[in-house]
Amino acid sequence: MEHTADNCIFCKIVSGEIPAERLHEDDKFICIRDVRPQAKVHLLLVTKRHIPSLDELYAKTGAPGVGEAALEVATAVARKQGLLPGGFRLVINTGGHGGQTVFHLHIHLLGGNDLEGTFG
Ligand code: AMP
Repeated sequence: MEHTADNCIFCKIVSGEIPAERLHEDDKFICIRDVRPQAKVHLLLVTKRHIPSLDELYAKTGAPGVGEAALEVATAVARKQGLLPGGFRLVINTGGHGGQTVFHLHIHLLGGNDLEGTFG
């Protein structure tokens, strides 16, 4: 199936069509909980715009400042959620080989327990 904004689950969450608790919201991102947590705390920082992947962000979409802002916001959310000074991990799966399953740009924010020995 083609991945478009029309059938995108994260677009539906961003628009409010599918309700989800927002742990953070600003002009560029929302932060929600992952439905299948891989760590004690597993959040998703999701772009408000339908950008299909990291590749699209840099190759085609031309959304200036999104990448830099994402790292800053993810770190601020991690701090607010009590993941510092313990630590956290950010993961961006990109494309099929990268394990991406939802083709709407998002960063996994994992923490709350020792992640050593796990990857992604
Ligand atoms: P990725 O494999 O990197 O594309 O990650 C997609 C993530 O979205 C997975 O970890 C899923 O568990 C998560 N996910 C899928 N649908 C939802 C949803 N409706 N609400 C929250 N998380 C979701």
